[in-house]
Amino acid sequence: MSMTRIYLSAPHMGGQELENVREVFASNWIAPLGPALNAFEARLSAYTGVAHVTGLSSGTAALHLALRLSGVGPGDAVWSPSMTFVGGVAPILYQGAYPVFLDCDATTVIDLDLLEAELEIAAREGVLPKALITTDLYGLMPDQRRIEALRAKFGFIWISDSAEALGSRIDGVHAGKGADFVVLSFNGNKIITTSGGGALASDSPALIERAMFLATQAREPAPHYEHATWGYNYRLSNVCAAIGLGQMDVIDERVAQRRAVHDRYRAELGQLPGLTFMDEPSGHHANRWLTTITVDPATAGTDRETIRLALEAANIESRPLWKPMHMQPAFEQYRYIGGTVCEALFERGLCLPSCSSMTEVEMDRVLAALFDVLPAAGRS
Ligand SMILES: *Cc1c(COP(=O)(O)O)cnc(C)c1O
Repeated sequence: MSMTRIYLSAPHMGGQELENVREVFASNWIAPLGPALNAFEARLSAYTGVAHVTGLSSGTAALHLALRLSGVGPGDAVWSPSMTFVGGVAPILYQGAYPVFLDCDATTVIDLDLLEAELEIAAREGVLPKALITTDLYGLMPDQRRIEALRAKFGFIWISDSAEALGSRIDGVHAGKGADFVVLSFNGNKIITTSGGGALASDSPALIERAMFLATQAREPAPHYEHATWGYNYRLSNVCAAIGLGQMDVIDERVAQRRAVHDRYRAELGQLPGLTFMDEPSGHHANRWLTTITVDPATAGTDRETIRLALEAANIESRPLWKPMHMQPAFEQYRYIGGTVCEALFERGLCLPSCSSMTEVEMDRVLAALFDVLPAAGRS
């Protein structure tokens, strides 16, 4: 264990962040709200093409606000992929609504054929969801045009959980563009970070204005504290936004670096039996936040867990894919629609170290550890 640990996804500063934070200190804008936050929101809007953005304390807070602004409440169904991170579904319960989980396709995003068939059934039975959450898992995206068409036909509110997908595009269109709400996250493990933070984006100015209002305790314009409704303390601090501004200077570089990591794994491991990478459909340009593989034990000669433990023994972090929500004790009472695709992805899937800051030497170390544990690589 003498070698330094290689992480799945570590923060990677661009260089300007500390100077930006110094400026915040010099001007004493040590508060939520301030010029750095305004500038960060403007940068995010320009980059994603989504007209209005509000910076928040987390992606989970952004999703919570999206659901509240969608009018989701007790008795409402919200459909979501089962394979996701808990922060991408827990706010459904904050609102007293209930989740319905759907299976994914082979690339880990929601299965749109299944979704369409189930929406047809739900429409006949009069139980359509109030809102649909789609999740751009590991930076891969579902076909957004098709979701727009389904929304036009069935009339749900579309929330795009793009927490893992800043920088992902289809034919130049950014992840989430066209959704009613787009959720972003700048947690420490995401492609860029503010140390902790998130954002909610929408093309509707009224919705984002309302989101900002709710995120600052729903204070009515009055000299005293006046509240016609209650809100939250959810804004991103100006200090954290200063970090985010520095990170936005390098976002395209970060996407290119993560994609290069992915390409190297593919070039070195892509021919080995039993290992499968997630392909980008044509026109897609994923940020490849994390490179994931599935391991078929029948042909790979080893299994996911053996590989994970071998990497761990070499002081290299890797992880199974997200455990599906319908398999979680906290969510198992809710309905799950689908087959065993996400269950199999959980059983066989592994997230590989994908840091944008990974050096050639570190990458060689990860690959050497993988070659050692993969019989077909001919080294063991
Ligand atoms: C990270 C993440 C979130 C939540 O973001 P936080 O900023 O950590 O609250 C939500 N959904 C998905 C898919 C995520 O990966």
